[in-house]
Amino acid sequence: MSDAGSKSPSNFIKHIVEEDLKNKKNNGKVQTRFPPEPNGYLHIGHAKSICLNFGVAAEYNGLCNLRFDDTNPSKEESEYVHSIIEDVHWLGFDWADRMFYASDYFEQLYQYAVQLIKNNRAYVCDLTADEIRKYRGTLTEPGKESPFRTRSVEENLDLFERMRNGEFEDGSRTLRAKIDMASGNINMRDPVFYRIQRSTHHRTGDSWCIYPMYDYAHCVSDSIEKITHSLCTLEFEDHRPLYDWFLDELNVFHPQQIEFARLNLTYTVMSKRKLLQLVKEGHVSGWDDPRMPTISGLRRRGYTPESIRNFCDRIGVAKADSTVDMALLEYCIREDLNKSALRVMSVLNPLKVVITNYPEDEVDELEAVNNPEDPDAGTRRVPFSKVLYIEKEDFMQDPPKKFFRLAPGREVRLRYAYFITCTDVIKDESTGEVVELHCTYDPETRGGDSPDGRKVKATLHWVSAGHAIDAEVRLYNSLFTAENPESGDDLPRYINPESQQVLTSCKIEPGLADASPGNRFQFERLGYFCVDPDSSPGRPVFNRTVTLRDTWAKLQKAGKLTQL
Ligand code: ATP
Ligand code: MG
Repeated sequence: MSDAGSKSPSNFIKHIVEEDLKNKKNNGKVQTRFPPEPNGYLHIGHAKSICLNFGVAAEYNGLCNLRFDDTNPSKEESEYVHSIIEDVHWLGFDWADRMFYASDYFEQLYQYAVQLIKNNRAYVCDLTADEIRKYRGTLTEPGKESPFRTRSVEENLDLFERMRNGEFEDGSRTLRAKIDMASGNINMRDPVFYRIQRSTHHRTGDSWCIYPMYDYAHCVSDSIEKITHSLCTLEFEDHRPLYDWFLDELNVFHPQQIEFARLNLTYTVMSKRKLLQLVKEGHVSGWDDPRMPTISGLRRRGYTPESIRNFCDRIGVAKADSTVDMALLEYCIREDLNKSALRVMSVLNPLKVVITNYPEDEVDELEAVNNPEDPDAGTRRVPFSKVLYIEKEDFMQDPPKKFFRLAPGREVRLRYAYFITCTDVIKDESTGEVVELHCTYDPETRGGDSPDGRKVKATLHWVSAGHAIDAEVRLYNSLFTAENPESGDDLPRYINPESQQVLTSCKIEPGLADASPGNRFQFERLGYFCVDPDSSPGRPVFNRTVTLRDTWAKLQKAGKLTQL
């Protein structure tokens, strides 16, 4: 388990930072930022960026700011701001008093734009969005200059001020950088960097009707905050010349933009637009549905911050795009919970077992180990009585060869308890379904060992019927049936109809009566489970975080995965 802020594996970005420190660049300071746009909840891909930005700052005695990139009022909401604050904190990172908003800089951004106009580096353009697109050219053909490109500085200053004052219709004019319509890089072909848009901003309300575009707002915000290393994902590589152009033209503090590969995960989507679609169309219960790859979904599912940080360390930071197997994320949570989660016994699909030779009103308190991986976790007492539940699938009337669990006439061990032998099978007469088993127990095997060295081939988990608590358990599978659901345009088509299975008559060890939302357990033989906020007093709801079976380790053994 690594603490937030502890040393992570080396990578090319850390090499650059180390080199800069050696050369006393930026006076030996390191300042990074995590810049989410508050237009959705954070996901596991953001976690990679968070761990990188906060991690690099922490490792080199620097600081990392949290900055909301809130320049597009039509899609942004304070609900998202709150969730982002909660999620970054939960992951274990802190920005002290350095929480900023790009909207804090609107006035400064405006003044810098005026300066660019004065320097004849920007102009007001009256082309429509469609026309601008047509004038832009293609990858193989140069663009065409706007007829408004030659406006005088005075006229541009006047028009830009009037844009701000609300004299013009939405979309009727833009402010564009005067760069080069023939540039090989389309981003440099006189990009628009202010647009007129009347929508209420979540912080500045209606005080602005012009809003700066990302490429302009981002580099200037970085500069204002004296960011030394502006780490962003690869899709911004082609935007770097523009990032540099604005800062050079304004002649202000100039951070270095460095791009790294985004995280892609199999069997999930990471685009906020697609995640929003899942929420809006009701394919999931919300942003924090335990099947979502959001931080809040993973938290509700039972993931720990440590497991997510370890995952981010393991996947590393590289310059080339790649897709990580979901099994690695599961491996990380299993590894963490194996050490920390208390073992308990729970029966998901109960089958009643009556121990015919056990006294009617007797209750035996048996000692059970809380976590064999952690000697300090100690032991607890679990009640044993005449009527028990075992898992339905642990019994078979006519067992095939490899089935070693309970069957008529067969003896098995009940974990921490006794050997029992099945003597009778009671069926529902109309359906033929097995509804109850009669067994005998061997009092000599208390604790689960037989004094005569007799062996059994299976150990089952169980609960005492009179003591168990009723619970609901939600089992999850991958939300998508396709390894890369993002590639198609019809997302709902790839949704796994069996991504959630709700079991409503589960029987849980009585000690869990007081478990509270967020508590995590290993249900012996079944997996890791976490108490859901939907729980009500006396009726807990559990989410299965992950099964016990470790597909990642298996794949690795089989040589099917290359070491990351
Ligand atoms: P949008 O599609 O809305 O632009 P985005 O995923 O880029 O979404 P931002 O809020 O702009 O979302 O992201 C904040 C930061 O997180 C950015 O620096 C972005 O590069 C980084 N980030 C986003 N997705 C990933 C990802 N999958 N892997 C690594 N970093 C990511
Ligand atoms: Mg973005």
